[in-house]
Amino acid sequence: MQSGDEWVKRDAAVVWHGFTQMAAYLDNSPLVVERAEGRELIDVDGKRYFDAISSLWVTTLGHRVPELDEAVVSQLGRVAHSTMLGNGNRVVIELAEALADRVPVDGAHVLFASDGAAAVEQALKIAFQYWVNLGVSGRTTYLALGGAYHGDTVGSLSLGAGGFGTDLFDPLRFPVLRGPGYDDPHWADGVIELVWAHASSLAAVVMEPLVQGAAGMHMTTPDDVARVAAAVQEAGVLLVCDEVATGFGRTGTLFAVEQCGVRPDLLVLGKGITGGYLPMSATVASQRVFDAFLGDDLGPRTLYHGHSYGGNALAAAVALRHLQLIDEWDVLANVRARSSQLRSLLAARLPGRRVRVCGLLAGIDVASGAAGRRVCAAAVARGVLLRPLGPVIVLVPPLTTTADELERVVDVLAEALAEVVEA
Ligand SMILES: *Cc1c(COP(=O)(O)O)cnc(C)c1O
Repeated sequence: MQSGDEWVKRDAAVVWHGFTQMAAYLDNSPLVVERAEGRELIDVDGKRYFDAISSLWVTTLGHRVPELDEAVVSQLGRVAHSTMLGNGNRVVIELAEALADRVPVDGAHVLFASDGAAAVEQALKIAFQYWVNLGVSGRTTYLALGGAYHGDTVGSLSLGAGGFGTDLFDPLRFPVLRGPGYDDPHWADGVIELVWAHASSLAAVVMEPLVQGAAGMHMTTPDDVARVAAAVQEAGVLLVCDEVATGFGRTGTLFAVEQCGVRPDLLVLGKGITGGYLPMSATVASQRVFDAFLGDDLGPRTLYHGHSYGGNALAAAVALRHLQLIDEWDVLANVRARSSQLRSLLAARLPGRRVRVCGLLAGIDVASGAAGRRVCAAAVARGVLLRPLGPVIVLVPPLTTTADELERVVDVLAEALAEVVEA
C-alpha cells in the first residue's frame, strides 16, 4: 500500500489543481481522498475528515447517500447520456417537471448545462437575445454588484467583481455597470439609482440573492433584495438571480429568493442541484422570456446555444431523487435549526470576532489570507476539512449535519484560531 505522501507526489506530477499554486502544492499538505462515509471524507491513509465545506459547497445530504447511489445505479441500467439538442430524455423531462413545480419562476422552462459558470453564460446570452428578438435595440449591457462572483469563464468573469488574482484578465472582460455590493449597507439604494439611470441600456441586472458567497460571505436582508428586484422589474429590465451557491436549501428555504418574495425572470442553478454527485447546472427562464424565442424553424429567434453534456441523464436521475429527499427528510427544518445553533455557537466560542451566518453558509473574518490558510491547516490536522476564502474562514457544512457534528466543527475552529497567534 502506498502512503499519502506518495499519492501527493503522483498527484502533483500530473494534475493541475484549480485556484492552486502548484509550486507550493506539496507544502500545503493536501488530502488525497479515496472514499467517503456520510459527511466524512477518508484519505488514502484511512484518516477521516468532516467535510465542513461540502466539497466546495456542492454536497447537500452527505456522501454516499444510499438513495442517491441507487438513483445513479438504476439510471445506469437505462441510459447514461443522450443529447438534449433537438431530442428529449425521459428522466430529464421528469426532473424539469419537478423543478418547474418548485422554482420561484413563472412558467419555468429549464435549459441544462454542467457548471454554474456555463449556466450564468446561458442567462447572459438569453437576456441579450431576448431584447433583440423583441426588436428593442440598445439593451446590451448588464448591471452586476460589487463583490459579485458568477464563475470563471470569460463571460461570468466579466460579471464578477474581480479579485482572487483574476485582475490580469481585465483586458478580456467586457464592461458591465458596477453597483455597490453587500458589504455596503446602502447597496440597495445605490443599485436602484443606477437601474433607473441606465434602464434603457440594460439587458439585465444580475445578483446573488441574500449571500455573496465568494466575496467572503457578505450578506444582506430579504427586504433589500426585494426592493432592488421590484425596481429592476418596474424599470422593465430582466432580473437574473444566481442561486448557484444559495439554491437547494442552503439558506433555509429551497431558494433564497423565496425569503424575499422575488420571482426572477431568469434563475441560475448549479452546485447543490445533484446533491453534489454529478456536474449539472441549469438556467431557468420564465414563460415571458421563453416565448420571445419562439419563431420559424431555423430562424433567427432560436437560441443557438447548447453544451454536449447539458441535461445528462445520470445527473438528472440523481437531481430528481435529491429534490424528493429534501422533502422526505425535511432537510430545510434541519438547516434552520442548525443555522441558529451555529449562530449561538460562534457567538459563544468566538466572542468579539466578526462572523456572518445565513442558513448553513457562514463567514468568520481573520486577520489575513495567510492567517486563513494556517487556521484551516490547523483544523484539517484535527480532522475537519476547511478552506479559506482569503481572510475569511468559510463554514459550509452539509445540510444534514447533526447538532453534535456542528459543535465539533466549531470546537475545532476555536482551537485552530487559538493556535494561530496572528489570526
Ligand atoms: C460557484 C459559483 C458559480 C460558478 O459555478 P461553477 O460550477 O464553479 O462554474 C457561479 N455563481 C455563484 C454564486 C457561485 O457560488
